[in-house]
Amino acid sequence: MIEEFCPKCGKPNVSQSAWCEYCLTYFNEYGKDVTLYCPECSHPNDYNSSHCEVCYEPLKPGQVE
Ligand SMILES: [Zn+2]
Ligand SMILES: [Zn+2]
Repeated sequence: MIEEFCPKCGKPNVSQSAWCEYCLTYFNEYGKDVTLYCPECSHPNDYNSSHCEVCYEPLKPGQVE
């Protein structure tokens, strides 16, 4: 398994992860202005948001609600 190290917290994640499973920082889009669409209502949220600002749905898998 190939691992990718988080640019923020330095912990290893599996390479196909879109974000760090520890600190939820995006890998490929790190430092860029990326929109994170809500899986529930499709509202565009800031990529650093952990929850949708409209319906408060968690935007990233593995989060505790
Ligand atoms: Zn991290
Ligand atoms: Zn939403």
